[in-house]
Amino acid sequence: MNSLRRIDIKYLKGVGPKRADLIGRELGIKTYYDLLHHFPSHYVDRSKIYRIVDLRGEMPALQIKGKFLTFNVVGEGAKSRLIGLFTDGTATIEIVWFRRISQIKQAYKTGNEYILFGKPGEFNGTRQMVHPEIDPVGSTTATGGLRGVYPLTEKLRNAGIGSRTIFTWVMNLLSTIRPVAETLSTDVIEAMKLMPLREALIAVHNPQDAATLQKARFRLKFEELFYIQLNLRRHSLMRAARADGIKFSRVGDFFNMFYERQLPFDLTGAQKRVIKEIRHDMGSGRQMNRLLQGDVGSGKTLVALMTMLIAIDNGYQACLMAPTEILATQHYQTLRQLVAPIGINVRLLTGSTRAKERREIHEGLLSGDIQLIVGTHALIEDTVKFRNLGFVVIDEQHRFGVMQRSRLWTKNNILPHVLVMTATPIPRTLAMTLYGDLDVSVIDELPPGRKPVDTMICYDTRREMVNISIGRQLAMGRQIYIVYPLISENEKLDLKSLEDGYETICETFPSYEVTYVHGKMKPAEKDRRMTDFVSGKARILVATTVIEVGVNVPNATTMVIENAERFGLSQLHQLRGRVGRGGDKSYCVLMTKPQIAKTTRERLEIMTSTNDGFIVAEADLKMRGPGDIEGTLQSGIAFDLKIANLATDQQIVQLARDKAEEVLEDDPALNKPVHSVLLSNLQENFEKAVDLSRIS
Ligand code: ADP
Ligand code: MG
Repeated sequence: MNSLRRIDIKYLKGVGPKRADLIGRELGIKTYYDLLHHFPSHYVDRSKIYRIVDLRGEMPALQIKGKFLTFNVVGEGAKSRLIGLFTDGTATIEIVWFRRISQIKQAYKTGNEYILFGKPGEFNGTRQMVHPEIDPVGSTTATGGLRGVYPLTEKLRNAGIGSRTIFTWVMNLLSTIRPVAETLSTDVIEAMKLMPLREALIAVHNPQDAATLQKARFRLKFEELFYIQLNLRRHSLMRAARADGIKFSRVGDFFNMFYERQLPFDLTGAQKRVIKEIRHDMGSGRQMNRLLQGDVGSGKTLVALMTMLIAIDNGYQACLMAPTEILATQHYQTLRQLVAPIGINVRLLTGSTRAKERREIHEGLLSGDIQLIVGTHALIEDTVKFRNLGFVVIDEQHRFGVMQRSRLWTKNNILPHVLVMTATPIPRTLAMTLYGDLDVSVIDELPPGRKPVDTMICYDTRREMVNISIGRQLAMGRQIYIVYPLISENEKLDLKSLEDGYETICETFPSYEVTYVHGKMKPAEKDRRMTDFVSGKARILVATTVIEVGVNVPNATTMVIENAERFGLSQLHQLRGRVGRGGDKSYCVLMTKPQIAKTTRERLEIMTSTNDGFIVAEADLKMRGPGDIEGTLQSGIAFDLKIANLATDQQIVQLARDKAEEVLEDDPALNKPVHSVLLSNLQENFEKAVDLSRIS
């Protein structure tokens, strides 16, 4: 199986260099291995054939069976299209092609029977199906069982690559590579009663029935999660064996000076407790790996700062990494203001730091002149070297991949202490998978004086009312966020709705400055616009979720979220956390359509019923409705899972973890012959994750 990772997909029959390039870019399929692990996102029952007379525009993709009566090319030039009139005896439907017309005309004949798979639609009162997938009746691929529907993109469809194409490639591949080498050890397969790999791959791509599919999916999910657990457990075993960490034995001048002179307010009880926990870890002589969870606005940054001061007091450098440039910059400004007066040299390093300054910073880090560095991914570049990095803090942890995190770890001979912070509370199984066995600290208390944000659901039809409230807030001098969802699959449309929204807002509030930002913007422009809002120059910010993480504008009192039903709860909670940061009463308005489903409405109602992020996260997970979990596990989650789902497959996570533990207990170094397959696959699976033996 491993060798499959090294065979370029372009060599597969029917693919070739051009299509290889396209599927590489669109789906990340670069090798034979990738293709085999590009699994259907769902399945349709192949035995079910619909009658054309029963088709309605709102039906999902389905199958019909019949014959073409005629083929006609209509229109001219770029507008021309091929229309095939298709019937099953109950009615007719127009099958429409806009591209590859001559190929299609050659491929299909009137009079032959075909099975068509596609989404029915209606155009000017005529039934239509556009670019369906077509199989001749009687072909092996067209009969029986379930049909996998593969995740695709618009670009692929335009290039004539459909679900069927992928399926054919996979089948070709499976027939050429036999046998597929097993990737789990026989003891594990037997104990867990798993389907052999080859069988599972065939069944998941071409299932004959639901029960077999279920078994196949279980096998593949288990394997995926098992290797993650095996990897994590092995590291923690090695870590425990080594146990060496920098010992920060003293609390020195910087910490004390800061505490006495600079601390702008009293610490909350939770902050004090957590600082104590971290101090204890740092002084233990063992390397700390700690996860700090705390709701939005609970004051994690201050905890990070004060613990970084301990590192600096002990003669080490500290580093704070944030997922976005905006956030890094904001952290930098906050921290500099707080610690520059006590003589700490703090600098900022991001993707847009200019070459000259960058060189200067590199030197400063190497010489030890810079004690505290704040930055983005730019910090993990190989050119960044420290004199003695003692403490690494990673903010909004869920936005980084394991690989990225681990690269910071390796920047020192002795591993630095690591604190990862997140505002997204993570259920246990999830934490287990993402962070192995990190120690966990929780800030479960907000600084005093916070007023809970008033949250309400509002239908589009009552937009007038929302505008009146916005107007009122603006008149009082406050600032407003308006957030649009942005989902990559439909980027253009989403961007359009943001731009339209922006224009409408400009028209509605002509006397106030409005600005907008989205992820596709050049960083410099985005920053300029964000700065306008942070400084108060712009009063309304229309944005996609780029603002989700961390921006702090205390004067902003209203958060309007458009198409709120498209966000996950945790994401909504994060967005809501952008307001209510000053002393003023704040509002969060969830805009949605009157026709949303009952479950969706209930989901949104959780937001109106509580301001507590932990309750929101729990509810999010419990409801597990479509989309909810996506929100929790939103982009950037550490593993690029191909088939398992950390939220819905919690039981399998547990099984995989138990099994991995059992295997390692019996054979910690995986030296037994039966486990050699585990060791080699482990290395293969995680080879990209830098030098893992160094990390933990
Ligand atoms: P988060 O945990 O979301 O990262 P921040 O660290 O950004 O939260 O803190 C949110 C705000 O609360 C900041 O403006 C910070 O200065 C303020 N803050 C932090 N700790 C306290 C405290 N103990 N008392 C009052 N305000 C605090
Ligand atoms: Mg924060």
